[in-house]
Amino acid sequence: MKRTISILGSTGSIGRQTLEVAEACGHRVAALTVKGSVELAEEQARKFRPELVAAVDERAAADLRVRLADTPTRVAGGEQALLEAAVLPRADTVVTAVVGIAGLRPTLAAIDAGKRIALANKETLVCAGELVMARAREKGADIVPVDSEHSAIFQCLQGCRDRGEVRRLIITASGGPFFGKGREELAQGTREQALRHPNWSMGAKITIDSATLMNKGLEFIEAMRLYAMPPEKISVVVHRESIIHSLVEFVDGAVLAQLGTADMRLPIQYALTWPERTAGPATPLDLLRCPPLTFAAPDPEAFPCLALALECARKGGTSTAILNGANEAAVALFLNDKVKFLDIPRLVAGALDRVEARTGDYGLEDVFEADRAARAAVSDLMR
Ligand code: NDP
Ligand code: MG
Repeated sequence: MKRTISILGSTGSIGRQTLEVAEACGHRVAALTVKGSVELAEEQARKFRPELVAAVDERAAADLRVRLADTPTRVAGGEQALLEAAVLPRADTVVTAVVGIAGLRPTLAAIDAGKRIALANKETLVCAGELVMARAREKGADIVPVDSEHSAIFQCLQGCRDRGEVRRLIITASGGPFFGKGREELAQGTREQALRHPNWSMGAKITIDSATLMNKGLEFIEAMRLYAMPPEKISVVVHRESIIHSLVEFVDGAVLAQLGTADMRLPIQYALTWPERTAGPATPLDLLRCPPLTFAAPDPEAFPCLALALECARKGGTSTAILNGANEAAVALFLNDKVKFLDIPRLVAGALDRVEARTGDYGLEDVFEADRAARAAVSDLMR
């Protein structure tokens, strides 16, 4: 199965690995989008010859127009260009690999255009998962997860004819670089330490989320939305080796797991080829070289972000958009050395206290308003 893909966020960690998969497996590339990385975007465009390259940053787009003038690729700039790439008629599949709530509008546009969504951008489902999944059902668009845990669950659910047979989803967590540390040590956690993930090489924002365990909280909410599961049917277990990517427990007690090396190219590829499987570039797993597999409960006291996310998961409505907006703002401050590691949960908790969530009937504008209010609350807390 050869696909024609548009990659939103092609210069990031997931975007670059998607291009590796495309090259190895012969998928065609219709559009690439970036924020401002012009050099890599030019290199990718020359190699993959897409119809469109979109840069959100207008200056980057102007630069790319000059750089790609001798190629058939068209360059577009601004937020609108991202939407244009999401609905490009030639593409059948959109890989959403931008980071943050910036992915929400383009994901909805791609759903409306009937594309398959290979979804990496988890913040979209965290902020507006109910609305996005309802829209996908209405339009008949497939949302296939790229996130390794959700891909593992998706793979374990192939062949499950009745979701009522599922007792529990079990999401594994590596525990991140600060696993086992107490609050005193975490208080001294630096940006460099937090960016050193033990098993995965990823973009900066998700790497910090992995260090605070917010990533696991976001993934918990992502799993609720993707699989329409109530929070009491999802649990998180720390599995330091990142070999079991997640599990599904069925009502008869059977537990299915998906195992593999820590290589995102496999879940990316499966999101493109599902329901088929093809040979690909991912590093195979050698069981005889695996370390012993270990499991532990997460420590919500040392890592309050996970507890905050679970609280929002139970509350629902726009609370998860407040959580996400405050977290995006707090992580950006931490990456810019403006706050300390434990300020991240403090700022997120503060924003959740200050901003009232809408539950029950809410729409997309309420989600964006919750995001704005959460970011404003974080700014206020910094004064
Ligand atoms: P990166 O930071 O590596 O890449 C982000 C990409 O999005 C870049 O191409 C960047 O362009 C672009 N981008 C950044 N901000 C914006 C914006 N405001 N508007 C439009 N484009 C933007 O992120 P990752 O690849 O690590 O992660 C992407 C998504 O996938 C995240 O939601 C993450 O949670 C999820 N994910 C990632 C995994 C991983 O292994 N990396 C695993 C599972 C999920 P530019 O280069 O020009 O800045
Ligand atoms: Mg993950």
